Order: sequence, then structure tokens, then C-alpha cells
Amino acid sequence: MRVMQTNACSLSCGYCPTFCGGKVKRTGLAPEEVATTFMEAHRKGLAQGLFLTSGVPGRAVRMMDRMLASLQILRQREGFRGYVHVKVLPGAETAQVEEASRLATRVSANLEAPGDGYVRALAREKDFGGDLLPKLMLAGRLARDSREQRRRDGMPTAGTTTQFVVGAAGERDRETLGLVARLERERMLHHAHFSAFQPVAGTPMEGAPGTPAVRKLRLYQAEHLLRQYGFGFDELVFGEDGNLPLDDDPKTAWALAHPEHFPLDVLHAPHELLLRVPGLGPKAAAAVIAQRRRVVLRGARDLRRLGVDTARAAHFLALRGRRLAPAPPARQLRLFPHGQHLPQSPFKTAVPPCAYR
Ligand code: SF4
Repeated sequence: MRVMQTNACSLSCGYCPTFCGGKVKRTGLAPEEVATTFMEAHRKGLAQGLFLTSGVPGRAVRMMDRMLASLQILRQREGFRGYVHVKVLPGAETAQVEEASRLATRVSANLEAPGDGYVRALAREKDFGGDLLPKLMLAGRLARDSREQRRRDGMPTAGTTTQFVVGAAGERDRETLGLVARLERERMLHHAHFSAFQPVAGTPMEGAPGTPAVRKLRLYQAEHLLRQYGFGFDELVFGEDGNLPLDDDPKTAWALAHPEHFPLDVLHAPHELLLRVPGLGPKAAAAVIAQRRRVVLRGARDLRRLGVDTARAAHFLALRGRRLAPAPPARQLRLFPHGQHLPQSPFKTAVPPCAYR
């Protein structure tokens, strides 16, 4: 269950319909209401976990206290031991981050953009270097330490997350992914979320161009390569503008830039190299390795049965010395040449991005 404890807010995030000047009806929930409403839904089998976020009306510390009070009721009085994700508000105090980390399964703090200037361009009250990043790192350190020590009270911790509003401040994917890669390498971040900026009528940034959804998709794909496929940040391929190419997914872009590694021998390649083949994920790589010992793999059809996307993978694979496809895969997004904005979505939301993740 996703709950925004209040949509009242004194901040001026330019992309957000509930910014301080937004013409939306404001409302708020007392900690007791949050806890009892969730528990009712939980007992009826309608909700297994809670995601709690909020706007920042007035002092962030006061609102953060109300959110923590909701969690205290849930954990202490109601005895709920399931999944709770809480958002640390900009301006929260160190002790509140510590308390959130103690009460919640997952803590997140939205960085919004990868540096001071970019964040200021989005919301003049938010402070990347002095507030957002240190709070995320503190929550990350606490989650890392508690995972290492195994929480004494038996409550699991799921690590921290963050979110970026993509494309609104002129930031480059290289900067965003560089920051994400560093935090994940130091195990201070479990994973990152990306929201493609969409202008919302009535907000300070209503006239700014929206970001194509495919840019968000490429960021997610690149982040998966860093986190689950063993890629280093330095291996990611960026265009001259510092952004990921839109036409190809990041793994295909890397493979096309490194023809010296291909084709890869399906029958002998190790797991970590199979994972580098476009169209081959962890499940398919494991299936190929398990099956090639037991059965004779004859061609693309056999690989498809194991979950390999041969339309993308065949050019990079060989069986008994023969490349499975002579030509590289067709570009995936010829319709949307690099740098060109997609048509705007007619969908206008009255909910801020922070209400989702
Ligand atoms: S994004 Fe969150 S903090 Fe910013 S104006 Fe909207 S509700 Fe307030």
C-alpha cells in the first residue's frame, strides 16, 4: 500500500504538481490513521507491505516525526513485522534517519539529480551535497552494517534506494550512472529508480520539454549491467553528449563497440562471458551451461528453447566454429533517432514522483 501521509508541501520542486504553489486540494493523515488503515487492509489480505512517503509542510523534522510515529505504532503496538519502506524527507535530522533505519525494512532518500547545480535547478530548497547525499549515505551505511551484523531483532533489511528525475536539469547519464555505480560499489545503495521528466500543467517547469521514456529505460538497463551482470562503470558506452545511446540497449552498444570479444563459443564460454552477450540474461546463461553438458545444441532454435533472445544474440555467438548470424541485430529504435524527443504523453498526473518510489 502506497501512502502519502500529506500532500501539503512548502517546497518548490519544479516538476511536482503538489509543490507549494500547486492548485491541488491538500490533505493529511494522522499517524494513527496511517497505521490503522494499513493494518485493516493487511488483515483483509489487501496489502502485504507499506510504502510511506510525504510532502514537506513547514519544518521537515516535524513531518518526519509524524511519519516515524506511524511506523512506531505499526511496529510496536500493532506488532507488524512485514515490509515497510519509508522515504527520508529532505531536511530530516540524522537521528531520524537512524530511527527510520531501525523501524523500516527499506529506507530511501531521493537524490533527484547527480549534483548540487542540477538539484538546485529542480528545487531551490533542496541541498544535494549538504543534505540529500549525506542522508542517503548514512541510511546506506546503516543498512550495510545491519546486514553484516544480522539485525538482532530478526527484522530483515532490504537496503536503500533513491530516485532521479531524468532530463529535467540538463544532467548527463554519465554523471547519474557514475554516482549510482560508486554508491552501489560501496554498498550504500541497493538500487536506483529513474523517472523520465514529464512537464505537468501548473508547475514551474510546465514549459520544459519532456524526457523520452526510452532514456529512462536505458538508464535502468545500464544500472542492471552494473549491479547484476558484472559490468564496470568504465565499460558503459556513452555518446559524445554524455548520454547512453537510445537506439541500442547498453549491452548491445558495448558488444558492438567490442567486436574483438565475439563471436563467443556457446559450448565453452564461461558464465561471466555469456552474460555479456546481448539477449542472454542470467537465467538463459545458466540454462545454456546446464544443458550444453547434457544435450547436443544444434543451432538457434535450441538456444531459443533455453530462453536466449536469438534475434539479438545470434550475431555474437558461434557453435562449432560457425557464427549463428552474420549481421549484427537491427537497431532497436530506428523510429526515435538519438537526441530527438518522443511525442509527449497526454497523461497529466496530480501525484508527485516521490509518491511512487
Ligand atoms: S516532490 Fe515532494 S518535496 Fe518536492 S514539492 Fe513535491 S511533494 Fe514537495
